[in-house]
Amino acid sequence: MNLNYTAEELAFRDEVRAFLDEKLPADIAAKVKGFRRLSKEDHQRWQKILNEQGWYATHWPEEYGGVNWSPVQKHIWDEESSRYGAPRSVPFGVNMVAPVIIKFGTEEQKQRYLPRILSGEDWWCQGYSEPGAGSDLASLKTRAVRDGDHYIVNGQKTWTTLGQHANMIFCLVRTNTEVKAQEGISFLLIDMDTPGITVRPIITLDGEHEVNEVFFEDVKVPVENLVGEEDKGWTYAKYLLTYERTGLAGIGISKAALQHLKELATRRIKNGRPLIEDASFSQRIARVEIDLMAAGISNLRIIASVEGGGMPGAESSMLKVRGTEIRQTINDLARRALGPYAIPFVEEEMDLDYDGDFLSDENAAPVTPQYFNNRKLSIFGGSNEIQKNIVSKMILGL
Ligand SMILES: Cc1cc2nc3c(=O)[nH]c(=O)nc-3n(C[C@H](O)[C@H](O)[C@H](O)COP(=O)(O)OP(=O)(O)OC[C@H]3O[C@@H](n4cnc5c(N)ncnc54)[C@H](O)[C@@H]3O)c2cc1C
Repeated sequence: MNLNYTAEELAFRDEVRAFLDEKLPADIAAKVKGFRRLSKEDHQRWQKILNEQGWYATHWPEEYGGVNWSPVQKHIWDEESSRYGAPRSVPFGVNMVAPVIIKFGTEEQKQRYLPRILSGEDWWCQGYSEPGAGSDLASLKTRAVRDGDHYIVNGQKTWTTLGQHANMIFCLVRTNTEVKAQEGISFLLIDMDTPGITVRPIITLDGEHEVNEVFFEDVKVPVENLVGEEDKGWTYAKYLLTYERTGLAGIGISKAALQHLKELATRRIKNGRPLIEDASFSQRIARVEIDLMAAGISNLRIIASVEGGGMPGAESSMLKVRGTEIRQTINDLARRALGPYAIPFVEEEMDLDYDGDFLSDENAAPVTPQYFNNRKLSIFGGSNEIQKNIVSKMILGL
């Protein structure tokens, strides 16, 4: 295993840095670095810039407009783009449904959907989870019944991230109730403008509208929107999850969050001295920094093995658990650094152009919402308990 970059990889890193220096809009970077909310327009503006550079679809083969970076190049991109404050791409179109369409879709589906994902014309969301079907996804109940050239879909999806912006949803639906749960599921592409679809917001603890419930009432979906074979959706769903879980460790984002924490602790004063000089608090920061460095090295180890032709297995689960725990610890320390100022929340302070008085340090506003919002990290993409089950079976042989 070689953890040093080659000359070509260093040259690639320089190219990435030059691109980010020149093309990343300052207002978007300021929002990302300050943990402020990004609008749909912010995401779309950055996507357009990436697409013009040919760097939007990093998982796709070149023949479909992808860039097909090596694992090391993707890692360099993740590290550098997080450090510069570039938004992470909303994954549902480019990193989730697209690889499924490329591998299992019809030629017509590829021709129709892939260019629209690249251009940003379609915004996708993920319709997997249902009330009662999360970790145990195979128990999903949303029903699709074939009726001539259409499926008639009835049921409910939940926790649909950014579904309020989406015009397309990929759904797991039950097409057969007579067989084992996993064998009666199909993968459908559904236009969100179809009559019978209702999207209702779920407001989370941080006060934000990020997730939704999506209801389907006699929704007519053309048969040509089925991906692959009827009743084989579980295979495609699992293939998609391998893409969902890559990158969940968020090493680059944690590095940026740690930097933010250190700045916060430098400005906060405790007993007449900066909090960062407090022995107990600085030890806590050091502890999480060491954990982050160790997770970063594990990440590189996995990347080196993938680069050498290996497949990430239970190691991705391990990294997901460690990476998300680290991010939550950093959020927790930031909240502690603020002390009583973590409690009051002035929503206007979340806007970068807010020109009123700040309750405390002006970088404090997003700390508590971040703390609440990132509770999600150990739940989605396969909860940490489920990942631990995988580790215990595959690595520890329990
Ligand atoms: C912010 C957010 C965004 C999301 N976005 C989307 C989205 O866009 N699309 C989508 O389809 N879904 C989305 N999800 C849903 C997410 O995938 C599920 O929440 C997740 O799979 C857990 O399912 P559940 O919420 O039903 O919890 P449950 O499965 O009911 O789990 C409850 C608790 O029991 C534990 N548990 C369950 N089974 C086991 C077991 N076998 N062993 C040990 N512990 C177990 C879990 O770890 C958890 O702690 C999102 C969730 C959140 C919180």
